[in-house]
Amino acid sequence: MLNKKSVDDINVKGKKVLVRCDFNVPLQEGRITDENRLVAALPTIQKLVKDGGRIILCSHLGKPKGEPKPELSLAPVAKRLGELLGQEVKFAADPEVVGPNAKAAVEAMQDGDVILLENTRYRAEETKNGEAFSKELASLCDVFVNDAFGTAHRAHCSNVGVTEYVDTAVVGYLMQKEIDFLGNAVNNPQRPFVAILGGSKVSSKISVINNLLDKVDTLIIGGGMAYTFMKAQGEEVGKSLLEPDYIDYANDMLKKAEEKGVKLLIPVDTVIADDFSNDANFKTVGRGEIPADWQGLDIGEKTRELYAEAIQDAKTVVWNGPMGAFEMPNFAKGTEAIAKALADIDATTIIGGGDSAAAVNQLGYGDKMTHISTGGGASLEFLEGKELPGVVAANDR
Ligand code: AMP
Repeated sequence: MLNKKSVDDINVKGKKVLVRCDFNVPLQEGRITDENRLVAALPTIQKLVKDGGRIILCSHLGKPKGEPKPELSLAPVAKRLGELLGQEVKFAADPEVVGPNAKAAVEAMQDGDVILLENTRYRAEETKNGEAFSKELASLCDVFVNDAFGTAHRAHCSNVGVTEYVDTAVVGYLMQKEIDFLGNAVNNPQRPFVAILGGSKVSSKISVINNLLDKVDTLIIGGGMAYTFMKAQGEEVGKSLLEPDYIDYANDMLKKAEEKGVKLLIPVDTVIADDFSNDANFKTVGRGEIPADWQGLDIGEKTRELYAEAIQDAKTVVWNGPMGAFEMPNFAKGTEAIAKALADIDATTIIGGGDSAAAVNQLGYGDKMTHISTGGGASLEFLEGKELPGVVAANDR
C-alpha cells in the first residue's frame, strides 16, 4: 500500500482543489486519437466534484518549450473531458497559464464546478521546477492533488514545486492505483514472476534489467535490444540495432542471471529484412545466421512459441517494450504473440505504458490485462527501483 495521503483522506467541500492530471494525449488536427488518459482521470475528478470542491485541473501537453503554441492548447481536452464527465469543463484560456483570465475563472467558480488551465509547459519555468510559477499555481488553491502518474518521474512546478506552497498535497486514485499495481508486482509478486523487456535500446533499460534480475524468475528479452545480447553470445547480427558499448554489460547481465538462477531468454530465431521498411524482403533465420547486410526486425516463430510457453505458468507478468518494429505489420507478429499470450493466462498482467500499452489496446486485448499503465517513462523508472519525485512530494499518511 502506498504510504501517502490520498483524496480519501481529505474533505474538499467548498475548497479550491488544484489537480495535476496527465492529459498529455495524442492529437491529430485538434482531435484526440487516444483518450485513455482522460478516462483514467475521471474517478478522482468525480470524487472531488461529489465532495463539493471547486476543481481546477492542470496538465502539460507535448513540448511547447516554454511558450504558447496554439496547436498544443488543452482546449480540445476541456471539451472532450466535459463530454466524458457529463458536466461542463470550462477552459481557462490564458497564455500565462495562471494569468488574469485564469484567476478570474477561478474566482467565478461555484462548488462542484470544474475548470481546466492552459498547458503548463507554456511557461518555461515549469520543467525547471521554478519557484515563481510553483507559487502562482499554489496561489489558486487550498488543496493540491497529484494524479499524473505519467509525469511522476519528473520534478516540475505543477507536480513537485507547487507542493512546497500548499498545506495539503495528496495523491489521486490513478496515482494510487498505478503505484499499488506496479509496487505489488515488483516487490511482492505471486510467483512465477516473469518480466518481458523489448524496445529499441539496451542503454535505456540498463537499470531496469539489473533491478529486475534481483526480483524475477524469468526475464524475456526481445526487440532491438536483443541483438546486443546476441552479439554478447558471439552471434553475428548484421545490420540489426546494436550498441557495441553495451556488449560487456549484456555479458554481465547474462552472468548475473546464471548466478541468481534466473532464466534469461533471448531470441532463438529472428525475422530479418533487407531494409527498414514494411516493403522490404523478409525471412526467418536461426541463431547466428543473420547475413551482414540484413537486419533483425522481429522475433521469429520458434521464439514466439518459446516465449509464450515461458509465460504460460506465470502468476505475475510485467511487460515493457515491443518485440520488434511492430509499427510495420510484417514485423508485428512477435509483439502480437506476447499480447495474446498475456491475454490467455490466469495471472496478474501489467503493461508498462508506452508502445506496449498502445499495441495491447490496438490489438483489442486491453480489457484482458490486469493493469495498463498510463505512464511509460514513469513505469520504467519505477521498475528501476527509483523513487518518483511526484509521489515523494505528497504528504505522508
Ligand atoms: P523504446 O522506445 O525503446 O521502447 O522502443 C520502441 C521502438 O523500438 C519501437 O518504435 C519499435 O519499432 C522499435 N524496435 C523494436 N524492435 C526493433 C528492431 N528489431 N529493430 C528496430 N527497431 C525496433
